[in-house]
Amino acid sequence: PAAAEPVGPHHREIMWKVVTLVDTQQLHAARWQRARLGLLIYGLSLGIWGVASAYFARSRIAGLQARARLRVLSSSVEQTTDIVCITDRHGVIEYVNPGFQRATGYASEEVLGQRCSILKSGQHDDAFYQNLWQTVLHGSPFDAVLVNRRKDGTLYYEQKTIAPLKNRHGTITNLVSTGKDVTAHMQAQEQLYRLAFHDPLTGLPNRAMFHDHLKEAMQRALRQHTRVALLFLDLDHFKNINDSLGHEAGDKLLVLVAQRLRKAVRETDTVAHIGGDEFTIVLEAVHSVEEINEIARKLLDVFAKPFSIDSQEVFVSTSIGAAVFPQDGEDPQQLIKYADTAMYHAKRSGRNRMEFYAAQMTAQIATHLAMETQLRHGYERGEFVLHFQPLVAAGRGELLGLEALLRWQHPERGLLAADEFIETLEASNLIVPVSQWVLNNACLACLWLHEHLGLPDLPVSVNVSAGWFSHADIADTVVRCLQDTGIEPGCLILEITETALFQDVQRAAAALHTLKRRGVRLAIDDFGTGYSSLSYLRQFEVDILKIDREFVHNIANRSNDAALVNAIIAMAHNLGIQVVAEGVETTEQQQLLEAWDCDVLQGFYCARPTTVEEIAARRRPCNTVR
Ligand code: C2E
Ligand code: CA
Ligand code: CA
Repeated sequence: PAAAEPVGPHHREIMWKVVTLVDTQQLHAARWQRARLGLLIYGLSLGIWGVASAYFARSRIAGLQARARLRVLSSSVEQTTDIVCITDRHGVIEYVNPGFQRATGYASEEVLGQRCSILKSGQHDDAFYQNLWQTVLHGSPFDAVLVNRRKDGTLYYEQKTIAPLKNRHGTITNLVSTGKDVTAHMQAQEQLYRLAFHDPLTGLPNRAMFHDHLKEAMQRALRQHTRVALLFLDLDHFKNINDSLGHEAGDKLLVLVAQRLRKAVRETDTVAHIGGDEFTIVLEAVHSVEEINEIARKLLDVFAKPFSIDSQEVFVSTSIGAAVFPQDGEDPQQLIKYADTAMYHAKRSGRNRMEFYAAQMTAQIATHLAMETQLRHGYERGEFVLHFQPLVAAGRGELLGLEALLRWQHPERGLLAADEFIETLEASNLIVPVSQWVLNNACLACLWLHEHLGLPDLPVSVNVSAGWFSHADIADTVVRCLQDTGIEPGCLILEITETALFQDVQRAAAALHTLKRRGVRLAIDDFGTGYSSLSYLRQFEVDILKIDREFVHNIANRSNDAALVNAIIAMAHNLGIQVVAEGVETTEQQQLLEAWDCDVLQGFYCARPTTVEEIAARRRPCNTVR
């Protein structure tokens, strides 16, 4: 429109201004619109790019993460100390980790393609493996401690979980087994078990294990209609060995005894050390008494040879009690009690033997226990008295000495001779104070007689029992008695049996040596009933030998005994030992003994034991006319 009319410069300028105004306005509007659009598109594409790149970034991170996870996973399977093994569903090995290789000793390439049964140790039965396969093929994991075999043949324990691996359709394709080598742990557990059920000294089953075994053996016997014999062993005079050689030597002896006992019985028999010097043996499937006797003989034989301890030879014997299931007892406790009772009887009847349990034993023990109580009360009430039996010179009838013999003035049963209670006394520890009492009172009575008879050298003989010997230091007691009473040592004669002497030779030798040095004399009592070995007579410097009254009793009617007594007298004389014949009852016996040159006679033929007052009142020691 500006071109239709001529316009002046001013006009033009205005026009320009208008046009440009219009233009600028339009231009601004259009520009603004474009910018808005651009901004929109830019924003939009920024948004889309953002969303897209965020999306891609996420999936990329996820991928990276997954790959990393897989890497971690597979390297952790590779690096774990656990034992990992993957097989197909038939047990053919497809993968093993280094942990597996370390535990089993097999390299990966040695086992790939093999069945996992190459690890089988033979320690589990077929039922165990059946159960394993059934569990995993039913889709459940199987947990257990398996004993497997390494490549080098050694066994190891593996705490294992075998899990089935399924594909998308639920079919089992693989089995993944993961486990830990728990051998050390199991061994520690076994060690604990050993500690709990075995005696650490001998390695034998202890009391707890013995109880279990006995119970099981009895149950088996019940099912199989067989018998179980329970042997209860207690070493004879073990205390002496402990006291004289020390506890360490005692322990060594127990170990040696355990070894010999173990060897003496069958593999299937249980030998247990139930404490102290007590052992038990459970014999299964025994058929007869003879069989048990045979085994007992073997066991006693085990002790015939000496045990060598610290280059010393030690002899020890054992007393055995036997009880049989089901005859004797129905439950384990009862059977143990009965075997113990029988053992107690074996001790009482001389030790180094076996006794079967018999129902009356319990009653007998009850009687003994009642007797023991009575003896204790009797001793406390002063019911014990001493009688004395003269010993006279053979041929001359002159009084040469007196033997002190214990009597019990029982309130109801009257005067009891030693024979009726000495055994019970010896079995109880009452023997120690009673023996001391006898010793002191015998010495005092002897001193009293010295004055009344005017015989200041008259000796008195005192019996020393095995019980006293083993329970107390007799050298000490005797020395104290010599001091307290003031008696001359030469006026005291100790009578000891061979059995008492040999229970503990070392200890006896030491005590007797001390006493001999003091001047106390020593007599061997009941000679002929024990070992009757002459060699020890010299070793112990024995002064007097007393021939047992059993032999004397038979010299007139048994030529054997006559020859024996005759020989004993001759041999003793050769050794410079005086001979006393005990229990001389008849003129015939007296004459024979005198003909054989026996030195001293003692017996009813001359005089019965009586009170010290009566002896003092008598004019002649021997009541027989000469
Ligand atoms: P022992 O040492 O052989 O004592 C001799 C026993 O024979 C005494 O029996 C005595 O009365 C008996 N006797 C004496 N002469 C004759 C005879 O001619 N014929 C017969 N058949 N017997 C005769 P006792 O007093 O009953 O003593 C028995 C055993 O008891 C003693 O045997 C001795 O071993 C023990 N004993 C006696 N007193 C004591 C004591 O104070 N302490 C200890 N530890 N034991 C004693
Ligand atoms: Ca005697
Ligand atoms: Ca005797």
